[in-house]
Amino acid sequence: MRRIPLLGSFLLGSFLLGSLLLGSLLLGALACTPGSQTSDAEEAERTSWLAHGRTADEQRHSPLAQINAGNVSQLGLAWSFETGQGRGHEATPIVVDGAMYITAPWSVVHALDAKTGELLWTHDPKVPRAWGRRACCDVVNRGVAVVDGRVYVGTIDGRLVALEAATGKVIWDVNTIDRSKPYTITGAPRVVKGKVLIGNGGAEYGVRGYISAYDAVTGALAWRFYTVPGDPSKPFEHPELEQAAKTWNGSWWELGGGGTAWDSMAYDPELDLVYVGTGNGSPWARTLRSPGGGDNLFLSSILALRPDTGELVWYYQTTPADNWDYTAVQHILLADLEWEGKPRKLLMQAPKNGFFYVLDRETGELLSAEKFSRVTWATHVDLATGRPVETPEANYDEVDRVILPSPNGGHLWHPMSFHPGTGLVYIPVLEYAGFYSLDPDFQPIAEAWNLGMDIEGISEQIANSEIPAAWGELKAWDPIRQEAVWTVKHPGTFNGGVLTTAGNLVFQGTSDGRFAAYAADSGERLWEVLVRVGIVAPPVTYEIDGVQYVSVLAGWGGGGVIEGGDLEVAAAGKWENRGRLLTFALGEKGTIPVPKPLERKLADPLPELGVDAAGIKRGEGLFNAYCLPCHGILAMTTDVVPDLRFASAETHQQFLPIVLGGVRVHNGMASFSDVLSADEVTLVQAYIVERARATASED
Ligand code: CA
Repeated sequence: MRRIPLLGSFLLGSFLLGSLLLGSLLLGALACTPGSQTSDAEEAERTSWLAHGRTADEQRHSPLAQINAGNVSQLGLAWSFETGQGRGHEATPIVVDGAMYITAPWSVVHALDAKTGELLWTHDPKVPRAWGRRACCDVVNRGVAVVDGRVYVGTIDGRLVALEAATGKVIWDVNTIDRSKPYTITGAPRVVKGKVLIGNGGAEYGVRGYISAYDAVTGALAWRFYTVPGDPSKPFEHPELEQAAKTWNGSWWELGGGGTAWDSMAYDPELDLVYVGTGNGSPWARTLRSPGGGDNLFLSSILALRPDTGELVWYYQTTPADNWDYTAVQHILLADLEWEGKPRKLLMQAPKNGFFYVLDRETGELLSAEKFSRVTWATHVDLATGRPVETPEANYDEVDRVILPSPNGGHLWHPMSFHPGTGLVYIPVLEYAGFYSLDPDFQPIAEAWNLGMDIEGISEQIANSEIPAAWGELKAWDPIRQEAVWTVKHPGTFNGGVLTTAGNLVFQGTSDGRFAAYAADSGERLWEVLVRVGIVAPPVTYEIDGVQYVSVLAGWGGGGVIEGGDLEVAAAGKWENRGRLLTFALGEKGTIPVPKPLERKLADPLPELGVDAAGIKRGEGLFNAYCLPCHGILAMTTDVVPDLRFASAETHQQFLPIVLGGVRVHNGMASFSDVLSADEVTLVQAYIVERARATASED
C-alpha cells in the first residue's frame, strides 16, 4: 500500500489550505490527502504496537487475526534475541515502522529489526550498578515510549532519557528525583499531548511519591503532582495536598509517606483525562505511619488528572489507610461498555487488594467491586460509601497474621488484557498469602526497607503456621457480571502479562518457563512451547509485510520473585535465567535456545566462623534489613540473583571484599560499608552458613 510520511502529508495539506484559490481540482486533492493520512495512521495503529498498552486505553488487544484459534498450533520460532543479561525482563516491546524497541535490566534499550531480530542499536544509560541496592523489586524496566522519532526511557537511578529512534543517540537526559533518596524508575513512560509522564518507585525505602510531566521535545519539567503531602509547616506544592494533609497524622513526611506511582497510566482523549495508579504507604504499618488514623490520601488510589496541568479532577482510593502494601498501581484499563442497559465510559482495575473495580471514568463513581482472588482482609466493598469493610483478621497490631492476598497482591504489575469480542478481562492472578508482624520498636534506617514489619516474626510465622496453598491463574473475568468465566491454573504464582487478539486467542507465559495460547472464549489450551526461562513480561503482536508475529521477553524476576517466590516450581530454579526476546510466526520452525541446567552445590567445607547462636541471630536481623530484598527470605532464591546458601568457597573467602569493598559491584552487588562493620558482615556470613547447613540437613 502507499505510504506517505505523516509530516509530508501534513505540510502538503497546510500548503493547500493556504492556496484555496487554486481551484476545485486542488480542493479535491485537499479533501483526499487528509483522508489517506488518516488511513495510513490507522493502518500503522492496527498492525503495529505503538504504545505500552497498544492503545491509549491500554486494552492490550490486537485486531490482528492471521494467527487464530484454528491455526495457532502451527506457530513456531521466527527469531530470538539474547539480551546478555539475567534478572527480570518486564518490558512490553514497542513496534514502530518495522523496528522493535525493548528494555532489559539496568534500563538498557535495544532496537531490533522487528522482522529479522537484527540488532540496530543498543543504548546503556550507564546506571551506577550500586543503585541496585535501592531497588525493592529487582533492577527491572517495563519498556519505552516511542513518539515522533524519539524513544523515551526511565532509568533505575531515576533519570528520564530521550533517544533518537533511528540511532539511539541521546537527545536529552534529565534527573527526576532527589538523588540522596532511594528512588527508582521501573515503569514505562507514556506520552500524552506532547508531555512525557513518569512516576517512580521506592515506597519500601521511605520516599514520597509523585508523577511528573516533561516536555517531549526539550525535556523541561512541565508539572509534578505529589501523591502524598509533605511537611505541612511548609507551603503545599499544589492545592490538592492541603485537603490530603487532613487525612494524615503524626510526622509522616519524615518517614516519606509512600504513594509512589511506579506503573499504571491510561489516557482518554475525549475526556482529556490521564489516569494514574498510586502505591502503598511508607512504612506499610499504618499505626507507625499515621498514628491516630486517617485515610492517608492519595495512597493506593486512582487519580484522574488533566494532562496539560496535572490538576486533579477526581480520585478513588481503593484501600483507605493501606496497611498491607495493597497498591493501586496495577494496570488501569479503559473500555466503553453497556452498564445497566446504557453505554458507559468505564475504568477497570484489579489492584493488589483482590477486588476488581469498575468505575465511571468521567466522574470516578464506583459502580462495582468484587473479589477476583481469595481475600481475607475485607468482607466486601460498600457501594454506598465506596469503602472496603475490613475484617478483624486484617488487623496485625497485636497479633501476627496470615492474610490474603499477599503484599504482592491478587494481581501485581503483570498486565491484563481486555478482549472486545468476548467482553472479558484476562487477569494474571496470584493466589498466595502474606505474613504480617508489626515491629513495635520500628525506627527508620537509611538505605534499607522500612516496612514497620518484624521480619524475624514473619520468618517464625512461615516456619510455624498453616500456610494457605499457593498457585497462579489466568482468569477470564466478566467485568459486568463480576464473575470468572474460565480459569487456567498455573503451578507458579509469578506468571506473565497477557495479550488477546481478534483470532480468539489469549497469550501468556509462565513462571515455570512455558509460553502458551488459549482460546479466548473457552480457555482451551491450543498451543504451548517450553521456553525453560520464566516469563513475567506481557506478549505483543504486530504485522510486517503481511506476516503476523507474536513476541515476548523471557527472563524471570521482579518484585516477589527475587525475594524467593516460586522456589519449588520456577524455571529459574532449574535452568540459568537468561533474558531473550522470542518472536513467533505461523509455519516457522526455529529452535528455542536451551539454557544450561543450574548447578547448585554447597561449598565443601563450609567455613567455620566461630560465631555463637546469639551472633547468628544478630546476623539474621542484619541480613533481613539489608540483604533480603535481593537474596530472599531465609536466604533462599532462584537464579535471578545468587542463592547465598550455595555460595562457593571463593565467595566465602571474598565475603568481606564483596560486601564492604564492592568488588562485585559490576553485578549489582553494592558495597554496604556505609551501614555495616566488618564484624557485622561476619555475623551475616555466619547466618548464611547456618542456612546452608540447614539446607544440607534437609536433603
Ligand atoms: Ca510496595
